[in-house]
Amino acid sequence: MAKKKSATTKTAGTGGGAASGTRKPKVTAAADVSRCPKCGSTEREPYHHPRELAQGGEDRDGNAYTHVVWRNTACRSCGQARVDRTYENRLEA
Ligand SMILES: [Zn+2]
Repeated sequence: MAKKKSATTKTAGTGGGAASGTRKPKVTAAADVSRCPKCGSTEREPYHHPRELAQGGEDRDGNAYTHVVWRNTACRSCGQARVDRTYENRLEA
């Protein structure tokens, strides 16, 4: 009878409630899909001549990275050469 611990048995959140269960897990894509700026194709040649720079920062999504890597490739559809840049997070132990 005297055991009244929590008075807030209802939702502790602020308002919500309607959209429960529809929340999708958030995944972080490693990088944008590499796409030819000319024809839009995602088919490309294998990467070669990777260069990297130990430069940290944050990408557009606010994800921290420690290295920037560039790799040469070319579009398989139209042959447009390009360099794909990716951000990598290599946490040193
Ligand atoms: Zn192309």
